[in-house]
Amino acid sequence: MRVAAVVFDWGGTLTPWHTVDVRAQWRQTYAAHAHPDDHAAAEALTDALCDADAHHVRLGREEHRSSTLEQVLEHACAAVGLDPSAVDGPTVRASYERWWEPHTFTDPHVHPLWAWLRTQGIKVGVLSNTIWSRDYHRGLFARDGVLELVDGDVYTSELDVVKPHPEAFLAAARAVEADPGECIYVGDRLYEDVHGPRQVGMRTVHIPHSDIPGDQTVAVDVTPHAVAHHLADIAGIVHGWRSGAGDG
Ligand SMILES: [Mg+2]
Repeated sequence: MRVAAVVFDWGGTLTPWHTVDVRAQWRQTYAAHAHPDDHAAAEALTDALCDADAHHVRLGREEHRSSTLEQVLEHACAAVGLDPSAVDGPTVRASYERWWEPHTFTDPHVHPLWAWLRTQGIKVGVLSNTIWSRDYHRGLFARDGVLELVDGDVYTSELDVVKPHPEAFLAAARAVEADPGECIYVGDRLYEDVHGPRQVGMRTVHIPHSDIPGDQTVAVDVTPHAVAHHLADIAGIVHGWRSGAGDG
């Protein structure tokens, strides 16, 4: 197999899986900011944010439609009759990003893996299902010293669709200027990250160690081309495929 690029999922793949308290996330950031002195109003906004969040997760899972953080905020604000401009802004955005920070650190094995891929003439790509912006994601990679190793990156907040929609993977292949049949996709979810890329002819590596919530899981009968129990296993898998092992 000729390998032109390896494209990676983000959460649970490049960043170790963390189970987060979704309600606390909204309560301690946007709801606390909008209603610092009104407990009941803050709780009501938190309920609306959780409902909006769940609605947009469902749109992605069932209809493969993408969403942005701004759309989740607008949806929640509409439900409680609040002007979105009263909720969003640089201060609350900073508090939201601080809340997330402990859950965003790049796995220390990413840098040596990406550096090795590039020495092999293989491009490095990223394709993430995310409501967050390109700038935010790239800021995380820059903070962790790996941004300069990314050849092409796609965030579904910029697309109309999310994984496993084939168009998301075709966009990722275009971003790394590679034929999908010469791309390997690495991710932690069978439906999004194995079924998805197989549809466009990518070879797939599953990292099966994320504790994915039941409401985010779609049952699917699909087999990855390889399983990696650790990011450090990827180099050996790629090397084997390039040498012809396991082709077909
Ligand atoms: Mg993931």
